[in-house]
Amino acid sequence: MKHRIVVLGAGYAGAFSAGVLARRLHSDDFEITVVNAEPDFAERLRNHQLAAGRQLRRRPLTEVFAGTGIQLRVAQVTGVDVEHRTVTITDGADIDSLAYDTLLYALGSTADVHSVAGVAEHAFHVASRPAALRLRARLAELGANGQVLVVGGNLTAIEAATEIAEAHPDLRVGLVTRGELGGWLSSTARRHLFEAFDRFAITVHEHTTIARVDAAGAVAADGTAFAADATVWAAGFAVPAIAATSGLAVRPDGRITVDRQMRSVSHPDVYVAGDSAFVIGDNGLPLPMSCASAGFTSMQATATIIGDRTGRKVSTTSLSYVGNHISLGRKDAIFQVVDDDARSKSWALRGRAAARLKAAILGVNPWSLRHPTFGMPSRRYRASTDRPHAVVAT
Ligand SMILES: Cc1cc2nc3c(=O)[nH]c(=O)nc-3n(C[C@H](O)[C@H](O)[C@H](O)COP(=O)(O)OP(=O)(O)OC[C@H]3O[C@@H](n4cnc5c(N)ncnc54)[C@H](O)[C@@H]3O)c2cc1C
Repeated sequence: MKHRIVVLGAGYAGAFSAGVLARRLHSDDFEITVVNAEPDFAERLRNHQLAAGRQLRRRPLTEVFAGTGIQLRVAQVTGVDVEHRTVTITDGADIDSLAYDTLLYALGSTADVHSVAGVAEHAFHVASRPAALRLRARLAELGANGQVLVVGGNLTAIEAATEIAEAHPDLRVGLVTRGELGGWLSSTARRHLFEAFDRFAITVHEHTTIARVDAAGAVAADGTAFAADATVWAAGFAVPAIAATSGLAVRPDGRITVDRQMRSVSHPDVYVAGDSAFVIGDNGLPLPMSCASAGFTSMQATATIIGDRTGRKVSTTSLSYVGNHISLGRKDAIFQVVDDDARSKSWALRGRAAARLKAAILGVNPWSLRHPTFGMPSRRYRASTDRPHAVVAT
């Protein structure tokens, strides 16, 4: 019987990892199944573009995985039984159970819509493709002078506010944040950010905590009301509760605690990559949820699975945090580099050059999913239970 590897989620982490495993492990010994809620690869990095009304190319997962032997199940994961090594999935009509020998958990994150009253009922967000499409439809309904309020002061809020303001210059866009807008940026980068907000005529309210969202907009803790036809919640990500309810060791925020090799500390046959993982990076600090972290953690998780399952030495890959790349509409951006303590360096790439670099990175991402070994010659390894340490070149 083949060793069954089940990958949960086909975002940046899951799709990349599945592709690597399919190219590195021998198909006579290993069977790889990917479960994802949607049939297309969700390019989350472009969700704010989608919400603002841009046309994006569909990327069916069947194309991403073509020729790899990966079996795709388009279904919702509803539970993981870590004792019996099964995953419960549903396609809406039927419930099914998938048995695994090795599990790679990469269900990512979504918007945190449950921490503040009314958000789940009344606010929009851009953390998933369906949610971005709902916001897109709402923005299209609004007439001139319609009011959009973005809540949050971090990367997603900045990208959403600027993208919407650029694509819909007839709308009035405001942003409310508990702290400072882009407060972690270097002073040069922050100045650039505020110039962009001025150019787009986005009004900014800092040091304002939203306590409630309703159909009319948002209300701050001090009672100030912000009228809005669409409130966009971009005040943090949350991970699915599936890991916590399955009995895996998780942090208070639900992220799965893993060791340096991306194995669950409670269930070492469960590996984790992407936003769902809580892992300490090479700088001694937790890696932030980000596409870059999804890449690093996927590389480590797949290296560990390959080592553990084939009897080879587990290679250590980098778990780095180099900075953030923030788009400010289609023609402007900031690439803020950080130091070893995750503090912004004084230098940041700004303007069109940063926007072009970001566009190039976004363009390479889908390519790397089709070519996860980056063109390096593939050697497929046999399972160690059959032939320990044996390597078969293909
Ligand atoms: C608008 C926006 C812009 C961003 N820009 C940047 C950026 O510029 N740089 C950066 O580094 N990061 C950025 N991020 C963050 C980045 O998108 C995430 O950190 C990254 O997508 C995490 O990858 P992942 O594979 O862990 O999760 P995801 O990309 O979220 O993938 C998870 C996958 O699992 C599926 N899934 C989830 N739950 C279930 C379930 N129960 N059953 C079945 N399938 C399920 C989802 O459909 C999805 O396909 C941005 C995020 C947003 C929302």
